[in-house]
Amino acid sequence: MKVGFIGLGQMGSAMAANLVKAGHAVTVWNRSPGKDDALVAAGAVLADTPAAAAQGDVVMTMLADDRALEAVVFGEDGILDCPALHVSHSTIGVALADRLAGERQRYVAAPVFGRPPAAEAGKLFVVAAGADDLIDLCEPVFEAIAQRVFRVGTTPSAANLVKLSGNFMIMAAVEAMAEAMTLAEKGGVDRATLLEVLTGTLFSAPVYKTYGDMLVADKFKPAGFAAPLGLKDMNLVDAAAGASRTPMPLLGIVRDHLRTAIALEGEDVDWAGAGLAVRRAAGLD
Ligand code: NAP
Repeated sequence: MKVGFIGLGQMGSAMAANLVKAGHAVTVWNRSPGKDDALVAAGAVLADTPAAAAQGDVVMTMLADDRALEAVVFGEDGILDCPALHVSHSTIGVALADRLAGERQRYVAAPVFGRPPAAEAGKLFVVAAGADDLIDLCEPVFEAIAQRVFRVGTTPSAANLVKLSGNFMIMAAVEAMAEAMTLAEKGGVDRATLLEVLTGTLFSAPVYKTYGDMLVADKFKPAGFAAPLGLKDMNLVDAAAGASRTPMPLLGIVRDHLRTAIALEGEDVDWAGAGLAVRRAAGLD
C-alpha cells in the first residue's frame, strides 16, 4: 500500500520502520529534521509537508498530543483535505477524536498499547474504531505493526476511551505496586522478592512484570514513555470523566504522583517514576 507516516518519535519511527520492512511504499514526515535518516536509508521517501505525506491510500499519525495532531491536521499544509484515509494512533482526547470524526476526512481511531520495544518488534496491540469498511482497508498496515487488532465500535472516540482507561489502569497498578513494595521494604522484605512472589502467584499480568521490574531496578531513565506524556494522558482521562460525571478518586492520586516524579527527576523521567513519589513520602531514597 502507499502509506504516509507522520511523527517519527520513539513510537512512530519504529512503526514506520516495520511498514517499510513489510514492503509498503512509505512516505514520512516529522516536524524536526534528522529523525528520518534511518528510514530513508531503508527505503522510505521524505515528504516536505504533512500534506505531501497524505496523498496515498492511508496516512498514519503518531504524535505527542492533541496540539500536535491539530497542527498536523488543521495547520498550514495539513492533511485535512488530502485523499488518504487518516489512521490516528496518538493517544488523544475523546473530544478531539469526536471532532476529527466529524470532519470531511475519512478517519479511523487506532491508538496502541505497547512500549517502544513492542513497537520495534511489530508487536503492538491496536485498538481500532470507525466504519468497518475503513478498518478493513487498514488491515495490511496493522499487520505490519501489531500482534493483535481489537475492534471496539464504529464511533472512533470509543478507541480513545479504551486507550485512556488502559493507561489509567497502568498508573493505578504502578501506584499499588509502589505502595506494596515500600511497605515490604520498610519491613525488611526486598522489592524483588515481593515481586517474584506476586507475579508468580496472583499477579502474572504483563503490566505487573514490566512495571514491577522497573520499580525494583529503580531505573526510570532513559524514558520509554516520558512522564509528561503520561501526565497528559491522566489529564485526558480527567476531561473524559468530567464530561460524563464519573468520579475517579484514584486518578487524582496517580496524577499528583506523576507531577511529583517530574518535579523530582525532570521532564525526561519515565512515567513509572511516579513510584518514586510513594518511596520518598515514606522516607526511602
Ligand atoms: P515522542 O517520542 O515524544 O514523539 C512525539 C512526536 O510528536 C515527535 O515526532 C514530535 O516531533 C511530534 N510532535 C510533538 N509536538 C508536535 C507539534 N506541535 N507539531 C508536530 N509534531 C509534533 O513520543 P512517543 O513516545 O513516540 O509517543 C507518541 C504518542 O504515542 C503519544 O500520544 C503517546 O501518548 C503515545 N504512546 C506512547 C507509548 C510509549 O510507550 N512511548 C505507548 C503507547 C502510546 P519532533 O521530533 O519535532 O519533536
